[in-house]
Amino acid sequence: MTGKPFIYLDHAATTATRPEVVEAMLPYFSENFGNPSSVYSFSQKNRAVLSECREKIARCLNASSNEIYFTAGGSESDNWALKAAALKYGNQGANAVSKKSGHIITTKIEHHAILHTASYLEQSGYDVTYIDVDENGIIKLDELKKAIREDTILISVMFANNEIGTIEPIKEIGEIAREHDIIFHTDAVQAFGQIPIDVNEYNIDMLSASGHKLNGPKGTGFLYIRTGVNIGSFIHGGAQERGRRAGTENVPGIVGLAKACEIAFSTMKERTEKEIILRDHLIDRILYEVPYARLNGHRTKRLPNNVNISFQFVQGESMLIMLDMAGICASSGSACTSGSIDPSHVLMAIGLPEDIAHGSLRMTLGDENTLEEMDYVVEKIKENVGRLRSMSPQFEDFIK
Ligand SMILES: *Cc1c(COP(=O)(O)O)cnc(C)c1O
Repeated sequence: MTGKPFIYLDHAATTATRPEVVEAMLPYFSENFGNPSSVYSFSQKNRAVLSECREKIARCLNASSNEIYFTAGGSESDNWALKAAALKYGNQGANAVSKKSGHIITTKIEHHAILHTASYLEQSGYDVTYIDVDENGIIKLDELKKAIREDTILISVMFANNEIGTIEPIKEIGEIAREHDIIFHTDAVQAFGQIPIDVNEYNIDMLSASGHKLNGPKGTGFLYIRTGVNIGSFIHGGAQERGRRAGTENVPGIVGLAKACEIAFSTMKERTEKEIILRDHLIDRILYEVPYARLNGHRTKRLPNNVNISFQFVQGESMLIMLDMAGICASSGSACTSGSIDPSHVLMAIGLPEDIAHGSLRMTLGDENTLEEMDYVVEKIKENVGRLRSMSPQFEDFIK
């Protein structure tokens, strides 16, 4: 490689919108701009386009098209699912302050769109149980079963984790939920487009997905709501989305989302097989060649594109800056947002000590990545881990 390369290894954060997706969207900005709710034929065409998009997406999940509701992304879908289910299925509270109450079960490793919504609901009078995961990030099913109560209204467990890539036993959770007649929601933002999902086989009642995580446009997504799950609207106003999600439809965005889904599903097998080869090459080389490194997440029950490794005696943030200088975009396991240096809640939940959690690196692959890039990344990691350790007093003490 000559010059500074650009190696993008942060596909769990966002992805590039595919040129084919952009091309599919373009006619819906200035040409076919009609409001799908208008009566004249110019706009009616756009209404038909929305139906086609809904059908395309439903087919990816073995759902029916009237169970797909377009939203502005994964966070909105998660908020809608939890808040509206709580409101609909909660019981009348014991006093005037807690208007509604009820019990919700989720996990300690959810995305903040779920965790912060759950804590908001706790403040509003609901009880929430956060189930533990094992050292690989897999939900403890016995704990889940034990947590179920008479007043449990919802179980929400992510399909696959966005930091460590662990794939959860969704089918088993769906069976447990069904047995107890509890609604089951899954945040499938990372899994959708990467692994096959059948909402009927898995007994999923609600599912969140996002466009920009699968080479679609940002600010697009959907919530699958099984027929018979009667949650109310989250955005109130017009009658769009069968009265359940108001606001003039983002027609170009929806067209792009549907196109991205279509491509993600038609290329899934080939693409993920290739990603798994690159993923395992990266993992194996790092674990073999860098001492005091550990893989986070399950070795095989893992998203095809996720690598998350902790390097002892290294600060993840320093590593990211050094990799950036080498033209590599990665992410740290610890969610360091402007000044706050709390270690990642996911890495804490799998039992990592704080100092090791702080030395974590997440690299998430996409179909444009190559084996050559992986080898370059390994060389840069070796170089920089070595350099950072040589400056670490803890490492000096340790090797004495
Ligand atoms: C990215 C992500 C979200 C949020 O999706 P947005 O479309 O960015 O709002 C929710 N859950 C998981 C697991 C994610 O990875």
